[in-house]
Amino acid sequence: MTAIEGTAKGLLIGGEWTSGGGELLRRFNPARPSELVVELAGATPADVRAAYDAAAEAAPGWRRTPGPARGEILFRAAALLVARVDALGEELSREEGKTLAEGRGEVARAAQILRWFAGEASQPVGDVLPSSGTSTFLWSERVPLGVVSVITPWNFPVAIPVWKIAPAIAFGNTVVWKPSELTPLCAIRVAEVLSEAGLPAGVLNLVHGLPGAIGEAVTGDERIAALTFTGSTATGRAIQQSVVGRGVKVQLELGGKNPVIVLDDADLDQAVELTLRGAMMSSGQKCTATSRALVLPGIRDAFTARLAERAAALRVGDPLLPDTNVGPVVSQPQQERVLGYLDVAADEGHELLAGGRAALPGDAGWFVPPTVYGGVDPASRLGQEEVFGPVLGVIPVDSLEQAVAVANGTQYGLSASIFTRDLGRAFAFVREVEAGMVHVNSETAGAEPQAPFGGTKASSSGSREQGKAAVSFFTETKTVYLDMPAGS
Ligand code: NAD
Repeated sequence: MTAIEGTAKGLLIGGEWTSGGGELLRRFNPARPSELVVELAGATPADVRAAYDAAAEAAPGWRRTPGPARGEILFRAAALLVARVDALGEELSREEGKTLAEGRGEVARAAQILRWFAGEASQPVGDVLPSSGTSTFLWSERVPLGVVSVITPWNFPVAIPVWKIAPAIAFGNTVVWKPSELTPLCAIRVAEVLSEAGLPAGVLNLVHGLPGAIGEAVTGDERIAALTFTGSTATGRAIQQSVVGRGVKVQLELGGKNPVIVLDDADLDQAVELTLRGAMMSSGQKCTATSRALVLPGIRDAFTARLAERAAALRVGDPLLPDTNVGPVVSQPQQERVLGYLDVAADEGHELLAGGRAALPGDAGWFVPPTVYGGVDPASRLGQEEVFGPVLGVIPVDSLEQAVAVANGTQYGLSASIFTRDLGRAFAFVREVEAGMVHVNSETAGAEPQAPFGGTKASSSGSREQGKAAVSFFTETKTVYLDMPAGS
């Protein structure tokens, strides 16, 4: 067990919870920055190497463990997580800053992901193929890759790790996991649940630390067969570059600049509420957050006025209080970064419709007011760059064709949505928009474990997570020609 009181033993290596030999990491509550949430000693490169030793040592035994037995462990982990939805949801809220309801929802979602992959561990993993040999039994099967390196961000500190770790281990791999340095407590809780569920020593190893201290050790180990990363486009690309030439299979889930298109015939309430939810929940810190609303002339005035009014009515504050709609952002640098975009927007001359620096609450927490701009130029920085905060730009467009061109006119292609009653026009949008995930009359955020998740262009490396896509990333194909011994 970990010792969370005082300095936590936060590293899990070869089944043992230990303290790292690296620098002290302290995490404070984003809503009350004087409140220490957790303190732990980070890993050294030698600790990371020990984690890879443990993962490599555990790999042969775990690979031979039958899929249904692996699935049983994941089912138990899901049940443990369900029993901890309230407690872990609250810790998540205190550590990351999303509201209590969102924190609990994320933990429940993680349990759902565990259950789905628990079931997948018992699914067929290959094909029996016709052979031209008269006594040849020919089949192909999916087999584990070996040791997988998992690197995760802070914005979904329970669900994103689970949607990588659950398929990695369900399909027979072992894992070294480096979570974000901003959410070590959630990472410890996820690893605890999997250990308590019966995961053998070394199958999941957890190391903490700043990228400058252990990044190279995490990505540079020669035993890594595959690396799965979620985070910013810049970091993801640098990591991909660093493993080039080593035969490492790489999966990157990166940033977004997700548009909604609001056509004249849209249901006004639905379009406003779901655009706002997509933009402001989790304080806009979702890769699939809505950050651009592309609005046609016939509905623009009504949509913009209602949106501004509803955004201004959102209650910003302590995420543990039940009537809070929007909590803080994750850290002071993140607050400065997002507030910096409000200055960019002012310099670029966009029209402030709600929020802005003047609406900053006086509290000490790392808050950013939900902010909406109108008349945004799609070529401006606010129209192009991922803000990763509760900031939405309304971009005027004159036609569906123009809206699709603007939607496609950024480097990203993660998620996109359209609000309309006209399914013909919705279908044209679905066909033309450059996005890995497309919604009609729903918000840009949202992910179900059975559905492939990921983006196109600079939003991903091309592969998909979750659903049946996970088996193709976390396994490789072995083809077997079985012939009878001579004389039989
Ligand atoms: P980040 O890129 O700063 O960090 C992500 C992870 O990488 C962290 O664990 C960090 O410590 C680690 N890291 C950073 N440099 C490293 C290095 N050189 N070597 C090894 N590890 C290193 O991202 P973040 O700020 O944690 O998360 C926010 C970003 O994540 C946003 O851009 C967001 O869009 C993106 N995101 C994408 C998705 C998706 O599925 N597409 C989901 C959530 C978040």
